[in-house]
Amino acid sequence: MDNMKDRFPYLPDRISGLGELAYNLWWSWQPSVRMLFKMLNRPAWKESVHNPVKMLRELPKDIVESVANDPEYLHHYDAVLSRFRKEMSSKGGWFSENIADPEYLPIAYFSAEYGLHHSLPFYAGGLGFLAGDHIKEYSDLGAPLVAVGFMYPEGYLRQKIRADGWQESVDEVLDRDAAPITRVLNDKGEQLVVKVPFIDPPVYVAVWKVMVGRVPLYLIDTDIEINDPWNRGISAHLYIGDIEQRLRQEIVLGIGGSEVLNTLGIKHSVLHLNEGHPAFAILERIRERVQGGMGFDKAMEQVRATTVFTTHTPVPAGHDVFPFHLMDKYFSHYYPLLGLNRDAFLQIGTHPENPAAGFNMTAFALRMSAYRNGVSKKHGAVARRMWQALWPERQEENIPIDFITNGVHVPTWIEPKMELLLNRYLGPNWLEDHDNPVIWELIDDIPDKELWQVHYWLKMKLINVIREQARRRWVEDKISPTNVVAGGTLLDPSALTIGFARRFATYKRADLIFQDMERLKRLLNDRWRPLQIIFAGKAHPADDPGKRILQRIFNFAHDPDLRGRIAFVEDYGEQLAQYMVHGVDVWLNNPLPPLEASGTSGMKASLNGVPHLSILDGWWIEGFNGKNGWAFEGSGDDGKDAEAIYDILENNVIPLYYKLDDYGIPREWVKIMKEAIKSNAPLFSARRMVKEYVQKFYQSALKSA
Ligand SMILES: *Cc1c(COP(=O)(O)O)cnc(C)c1O
Repeated sequence: MDNMKDRFPYLPDRISGLGELAYNLWWSWQPSVRMLFKMLNRPAWKESVHNPVKMLRELPKDIVESVANDPEYLHHYDAVLSRFRKEMSSKGGWFSENIADPEYLPIAYFSAEYGLHHSLPFYAGGLGFLAGDHIKEYSDLGAPLVAVGFMYPEGYLRQKIRADGWQESVDEVLDRDAAPITRVLNDKGEQLVVKVPFIDPPVYVAVWKVMVGRVPLYLIDTDIEINDPWNRGISAHLYIGDIEQRLRQEIVLGIGGSEVLNTLGIKHSVLHLNEGHPAFAILERIRERVQGGMGFDKAMEQVRATTVFTTHTPVPAGHDVFPFHLMDKYFSHYYPLLGLNRDAFLQIGTHPENPAAGFNMTAFALRMSAYRNGVSKKHGAVARRMWQALWPERQEENIPIDFITNGVHVPTWIEPKMELLLNRYLGPNWLEDHDNPVIWELIDDIPDKELWQVHYWLKMKLINVIREQARRRWVEDKISPTNVVAGGTLLDPSALTIGFARRFATYKRADLIFQDMERLKRLLNDRWRPLQIIFAGKAHPADDPGKRILQRIFNFAHDPDLRGRIAFVEDYGEQLAQYMVHGVDVWLNNPLPPLEASGTSGMKASLNGVPHLSILDGWWIEGFNGKNGWAFEGSGDDGKDAEAIYDILENNVIPLYYKLDDYGIPREWVKIMKEAIKSNAPLFSARRMVKEYVQKFYQSALKSA
């Protein structure tokens, strides 16, 4: 790692540990570390958009020096730093106590995206947050893991909505020196550059590192001088549309990523593939064994027995299929190294029902992994049906695809004020033991008034953040008054507020609630019991139907007929997601079933006492218990599904929300909030999820390693 002293020349020695803290994302889920940065200077913390690296680089010398002489600050600093160093150097934790010696070779986790923090825009949506939450939890449990992914210099996309509602994407190049990411250096002190093997003409990748607690995440970057422009563009942004470039991206991730681990001397025991994009890493594991003298079949068996594959999407177009002529172009030198001929090689990636279509990454990964799973109970069943053809001799229920329902990293997604409240009532150790449902029973001890006050404060905060964003865009970017209105400046903190925020993929049906305009208007415009809805989300740049849905909602958001009760907030990302899942009253979800594999934003909302109103699909089939939110059977028919939502709003949600006791507290509503937290938090935590991966898969895979 490069020298902290060069990075932060003004940082006095007495508090030089701040540099170390800034470069480990541990701070992002530790309120006491965040407070340490905030205490340095509050406006600077805000100005940096909560990015300590950026903040430390920009703070004037006198401010930093005054803090270094402040006993109160130093007291807090010493306490935090010693806890940090102790935790980062420890190999202890649940894993070593229950599963295996932590000296075990690490598990290698490969994913095309990671949602860790908004200062690292290397994600598009749920798949990335799942990966980010997974590795954070790994760190907390003390399990040995090394993660591999891409450094996307242009991130996903920065969303700007034109006054006519059309989404435009603005490329914004990441300032690598102001992000919590460091260059991995070679022995000459230069950034490590690795040649991706077996690809001709060659592609080189530079290596970066992000520390996620105890877990190192290595990110590869093709945007370096030695590469020609076509190669430089491989890691420019997520999910490139051009099929050949996409293939090259996946070769670089799987094969290049494996080579990076080799170059760093990091051996791994088990490989976990998050979706099919990085699946070529499997080939490298087989090739190494074949080069060592093993036959293909034996090598494949060994690799299979130590490979875990998680599939995430029931949408057919979500699975990459590469035409054979491109596979020939890039792999004709490669398959002989596996001891295979062309046909045998292509065979491992064909889908039996459509063998001519090309090399299917999911079919390939499913064949080559002994441990396979969908991401909810329902999705497991959907995946078994979807991939039945790979096991023609088996009945559907015996297709070997299991499920592990997603969960969210509780320390990341719990709001700090809510965390303080729980500290008071759940006992001091609740966070250490948060996947234990018994602990959460104590939620009932929280006085209704206190929970309601925290919630109301978070709702005000959300609305303030939304208004401030609109004000800034008005002043700095000279957006039109239409955008200012649509962006949520007219929101009313006292109105019942629904949140809907996610990727604008068409199957998510963001505009479903606008099916029956007359009925919706009656709800929005009710004089005594108004409803308002806050929308946010990005459409994929190539998804015009998704952009049209977004445009439709944006246009409602500035239609005076809807009285300012609809808002569309621009540029959904990790930070806005945090404010929204903490601060709205109800979290709405209405995808076209069965296309939501799991969904995780509703888990984040429930954890913070924001009940979920959702179609019964994905995780909610397991989560809904009749008293922790609302549910309706999806018919798949837009009209009927919208009606189900209006019925629930009219008969349940609205009357409950507005029914106050003589202290002004909606008691029955608070009861649902408590039930939402209590029943969902332990079950849909990343802690429960990661323990399940370990116990169902890794533990037995490690035996074969
Ligand atoms: C959690 C999260 C998602 C995933 O939400 P879904 O409910 O799975 O659609 C997407 N984007 C962001 C920014 C998130 O925080």
